[in-house]
Amino acid sequence: LAIDIGGTKLAAGLVDDRGGVRWRASVPTPRGTDAEALFSCLAALMATAPSGDVMVCGVGVGGPMVADGEQVSPLNIPAWRDFPLRGRLAQLTGLPTFVDNDAKALALAEGWRGGAAGVDSYLAMVVSTGVGGGIVLNRRLLDGAEGNAGHIGHVVVVPDGRLCRCGGRGCLEAEASGTAIAAISGRPAAEADAALVARTGRLVGQAVGSVANLLDFKLAVVGGSVALGYGAAFFAAAQAQLDRGATLPYSRGARIRPVGLGPDGPLVGAAAVGFRGRGHLAFEPTGPWG
Ligand SMILES: [Zn+2]
Repeated sequence: LAIDIGGTKLAAGLVDDRGGVRWRASVPTPRGTDAEALFSCLAALMATAPSGDVMVCGVGVGGPMVADGEQVSPLNIPAWRDFPLRGRLAQLTGLPTFVDNDAKALALAEGWRGGAAGVDSYLAMVVSTGVGGGIVLNRRLLDGAEGNAGHIGHVVVVPDGRLCRCGGRGCLEAEASGTAIAAISGRPAAEADAALVARTGRLVGQAVGSVANLLDFKLAVVGGSVALGYGAAFFAAAQAQLDRGATLPYSRGARIRPVGLGPDGPLVGAAAVGFRGRGHLAFEPTGPWG
């Protein structure tokens, strides 16, 4: 049972152990600040799932979180601050339940059956309303102390730049997210001119280059409505900047490409969070299929 909790919609799906989506449904994320109303909406959505032989519940949700999703405070969902999501879902479903950051979930999905399949070390990121990321190194998804590793949206790309939701200045999310682009241009991000598309690509390429130099990988796969909406012009600008920044012997030649999974990516990722929690994910060395 896969659940993707986004700022725009809540999605649920049944995903098989090969990453095939057997059933899916979604509803718009309720506006407002009532934590229980939001959870009730999610529970009602989950209740529409057909009965079946379900082994685990996996969840992708925006960061940050503490204790590996025991409490979540997604920046894009003000209704939940320190919300005990994992425990509440486990109680509701009676299933072993695992919660992770939605961009980390996407990283698992892309390595499982997407654009990073067969690659041992890579970055997956989303450039959308916000900017998120997840990093796999040596076939292991990085977690960090409380599950927040990979938050590339808060790497600084413009010194003393725009104020970020995190309180910092000049973070990638504050400069290159859809929200930031709309604030900079005064128009919806989708209507950005060529110069702003190129700037967005350059900033993403700059951040990816810094992280590639730090962590030693040669592939970044990028999804999200902003990156995919801008398409070739965005990716060309990002690659050119990455070429300028990733110049060490081990990072030179790093590539930035669109994600391989389409709209199913978030649900496949949420399922991967569940399978990983149960020790059943191919590209992690503990998995029985590896
Ligand atoms: Zn920030």
